[in-house]
Amino acid sequence: MLVAMNKKELVLAANAAAGDGYYCPACQQPVYLRRGRSKVAHFAHRPGADCAVSEGETSEHLRGKQQLFNYFQAQGLRPRLEVYLPAINQRPDILVWRDRRLVAVEFQCSPLTVARLQARNEGYYQLGIKPVWLLGQPYRHHLSAAKVAQFTQIIADQPTVPYWNTRRCQIEYRRSFRRCSFVRGRPSVTKLLQQQVLALTRTGSANDLVRRLTATAYETVQQPLAHCPLVCHDLVPTWPTTRVAVIYWRIAVLLALRTQPLFTAWSPAEWQHWLWQCGRPYWLDFACAPPSVRGTVINEFTLDLLAVRVICQCGDHYVLFCHPSWFTDLAAKNASLAAAPMIHTQNRVELLAKER
Ligand SMILES: [Zn+2]
Repeated sequence: MLVAMNKKELVLAANAAAGDGYYCPACQQPVYLRRGRSKVAHFAHRPGADCAVSEGETSEHLRGKQQLFNYFQAQGLRPRLEVYLPAINQRPDILVWRDRRLVAVEFQCSPLTVARLQARNEGYYQLGIKPVWLLGQPYRHHLSAAKVAQFTQIIADQPTVPYWNTRRCQIEYRRSFRRCSFVRGRPSVTKLLQQQVLALTRTGSANDLVRRLTATAYETVQQPLAHCPLVCHDLVPTWPTTRVAVIYWRIAVLLALRTQPLFTAWSPAEWQHWLWQCGRPYWLDFACAPPSVRGTVINEFTLDLLAVRVICQCGDHYVLFCHPSWFTDLAAKNASLAAAPMIHTQNRVELLAKER
């Protein structure tokens, strides 16, 4: 940590004199001053000290925290470092007023579970503080879909994973996580469909959700997942929201639709809720963003179902119009996907490409 108490006041490690006695503002236990040529001056608890708000800090974390403090100060804001909030027993890295709101900025460099992240955010919300999580180096390499979801924040109205870059001293916004099931890059729609079909034929029983879905498909339509109707294929890249590829969620919804009698009607809100509900085991946990982040996945599938008239819009309701049939073999499916260019989706893919 960068701030500790001496007998009178809070002291910044950079300004601290060696030899003075310093205490942790949270647990009141004595702390050491640590300083070195290559080290950011900081305070550390004694080994084995039991302090709820103090975690092992990497040098990147210490450096980034100091940089963030300077960064906000340079903007004329009045950041405060490591303010201990006894009401919630938390100590955000930086506390700063921004747009008339108190914001807790956390620079996260170490592993953190969704549950702990949610608990920390809950604490801040209790005090009316808005938490912002900036990720550090360890999160830069491969970020799993679950981690993307965990740290997704809505910035400029868009799902975003923000980083603090300690080399450049700047915030970076990563938004390049959208993708279609099993596919990297932007192949043509026909190629994309072929790749997804191939991937579906190869998905084995490694995942519990997929295994159960495979069993449901056999029970309901007596077909393997690869034989699913074309409308199940997601051809518009979407933000990571599901534990497994989003195509599985779409298949699960389509199978669940078969349990509904034809001409069942839903208001848009009921429909959204129904889709959310029947995909329940599939959703990833979002700890820093509203559940509406899943909305795009739900909307995309709704648009596809409308386009192929599985559902129809009647007045202000969606009405179930037909149960699309499954293919009985892959040859038939391959022939049909070469013949059906899925114009409705292609337009949306092009629109999306233009938006960027
Ligand atoms: Zn402490």
